[in-house]
Amino acid sequence: MLAGEQVVAIDNCESPLGGDFLCQMLTQTSPRMRMPGKSEVPELPTMTLVTTTGNNLTLIGDMTRRAVLCRLDPRSGMWRRHIAMICPSGSDYDPAHRLGAAAAGVWMAQPQVPIDVDPETGIWRTDDMPMIYLPRHFLVNMQKGIEGAIGSEAYREILYASSDLSALQWCRAEAKTHRLTPVDTFRHYLKRLSQRGYGQLELTALDEAAGTASLTVRHSAFALGYGPETGRSVCYTFEGSFAGGMRYVLEMSGRAGEPLCREVACAAAGHPECRFELRCDAVA
Ligand SMILES: [Zn+2]
Repeated sequence: MLAGEQVVAIDNCESPLGGDFLCQMLTQTSPRMRMPGKSEVPELPTMTLVTTTGNNLTLIGDMTRRAVLCRLDPRSGMWRRHIAMICPSGSDYDPAHRLGAAAAGVWMAQPQVPIDVDPETGIWRTDDMPMIYLPRHFLVNMQKGIEGAIGSEAYREILYASSDLSALQWCRAEAKTHRLTPVDTFRHYLKRLSQRGYGQLELTALDEAAGTASLTVRHSAFALGYGPETGRSVCYTFEGSFAGGMRYVLEMSGRAGEPLCREVACAAAGHPECRFELRCDAVA
């Protein structure tokens, strides 16, 4: 507190939590504290947010009225603990200020994708499908390396085809798991890509009968990895993915047609967001 910390985190608290000083710290804007071994009693202006975690965390005394208890969902896998956020309850403080100051560091959103880890093999699965968690730079470095070796247009074609097939396989499998309609399966696919960190994907227009669609990707992982000065479209993984999602919709409705998707604006070329147009060509 002397150092003016905005957040104090007490991790794995094993003892009942309470005490006069902690209560003063939460209810007064400037509590006084006697310094160990000194005669000084400095005033400590505090806008500090105190958080604590622990299994079966117990609060005692007045602390029971000065804390917000949260139970973390064990299905999230990594956060199997109780957590308490202790907020001041006095009338002369601004909880929004403390929370706002701390929000960036403490209250990051957690992933919404269910992940099951096989304890025997270490294999990750989401909706029973084996998954891998990758750093963004791995994907971007791989794409840059292959572009350097064979040229970006040649790699675009290869990646387009593999993304198209992968999306189709994903939709076929997920539709069985969730019993969704074809279009909802396509939407679910976009949602899962967003939840897995590829960017914020949105279907902005869809004509199911015509097999056409418009999509945007904000904060594309590929565009961010390449940077806005790249001067060209780099998100061609998505082109194939979106074509594959539409291919699934057409397959389920029994309609012929060849989906074709192109990125028409990319953040790596300086646009505010990446935009994609999906059309459906007649099959000769
Ligand atoms: Zn892009």
